[in-house]
Amino acid sequence: MSEGLVLPKFSVGVGDRFAHQAKAQLAACIKAGEAGVEVVPVWNKSNREHTIIGTDPNQTRKAADAAVKELGWDKPYFLDADHINFKTVDRFIEPCDFFTMDVADEIGKAAKPEDVDAFVARHPELVGTVTIPRIAEPFKTDVAFVKGVANKFLAAVQDAGKIYRYLVEKKGAGKFVPEISMDETDFPQTPVELLIILAAIADEQIPIQTIAPKFTGRFNKGVDYVGDVAQFTKEFEEDLAAIAFAVKRYGLPANLKLSVHSGSDKFSIYSAIYNAVKKFDAGVHLKTAGTTWLEELIGLAEAGGDGLAIAKEVYREAYAHSDELRGPYATVIDIDDAKLPKPEEVDGWTSKQFTDALRHDQSNPAYNPSFRQLLHVGFKIAAKMGDKYLKALEANEEIVAKNVTTNLFDRHISPVFLGK
Ligand SMILES: [Zn+2]
Repeated sequence: MSEGLVLPKFSVGVGDRFAHQAKAQLAACIKAGEAGVEVVPVWNKSNREHTIIGTDPNQTRKAADAAVKELGWDKPYFLDADHINFKTVDRFIEPCDFFTMDVADEIGKAAKPEDVDAFVARHPELVGTVTIPRIAEPFKTDVAFVKGVANKFLAAVQDAGKIYRYLVEKKGAGKFVPEISMDETDFPQTPVELLIILAAIADEQIPIQTIAPKFTGRFNKGVDYVGDVAQFTKEFEEDLAAIAFAVKRYGLPANLKLSVHSGSDKFSIYSAIYNAVKKFDAGVHLKTAGTTWLEELIGLAEAGGDGLAIAKEVYREAYAHSDELRGPYATVIDIDDAKLPKPEEVDGWTSKQFTDALRHDQSNPAYNPSFRQLLHVGFKIAAKMGDKYLKALEANEEIVAKNVTTNLFDRHISPVFLGK
């Protein structure tokens, strides 16, 4: 089913809100290569981020191409139309070659009863005792259960089919990597649900190369995983087993892999991901985004002088517009207002105090997750500063780039893809 563009086994989604860090991000992938593992970059910026900042995907394309050229990267790289749907996809079609089709809004909408019945009739293998290699306990299902799952997900998969066929019409089959995302929804999908969803995706003939389920536990933006790591590990491994089974059983692309969204900063599950992927000889896509914007702020703060002043100004404004900034991210942040320092206090901070509070170093007692999360959603403030912010990035390019590369390689690529 998979011809044309192929997403390699290991890939990292990188976000670059202000289109100034593509080189520093690519440098982290180059370091991965030097350390012995090929990890290719996928630049992702969602419609939401483009809209908030007032940019468009062509700028991301330009920045990515320029970085690739300058650093002489000769491996694949991609540009992700991130979390698009039918309404928002158009401006991504030309510059992008990876499409994350977000069908979360369609989950739970009823499909036509005759479609649900046809799905169940087509898949007797999903009813009864479902034995999947490498999953210790077979799943027990019945018709009512499979029907229930189909009722929850079939309409969403059909919607993805429509978007996929539209993209094929516009770009041509094999000219892009399709992903389906279901992460921005209320309830995690269990491994058996994932299997049923994959059967429906194969029926719909969407040759997805990655799928982003919602995993158990909380994946808040910019901070560590909150949840039961043992449970996550079990479900992640079962998801890998379900995917391997679905690839064979339903003829989905052989490189189909899990995509871990909101994947930056989830330090406590990285070794579980590394071990599971290794155990199953599977691939994985780790998506990080806003973590790079925070490294820009850390770099500016570390530079001192005007850079530190800008970082403080961003905090002051973010604090003042906190509700408005948090709105679009309400389900993926947990800020404790009582832990937010007053801007007056922050104004008196040194570079070190600012970076200690912001940098994601859990061993540092001065690290403040509430401070970090508020700034994570505060990129709109920097966007409003316009040229002043961009000029500061340019003036402090070296120190910012060092933070971006180090964060991406040391704290993300190394634990997830190298196991250290
Ligand atoms: Zn997502």
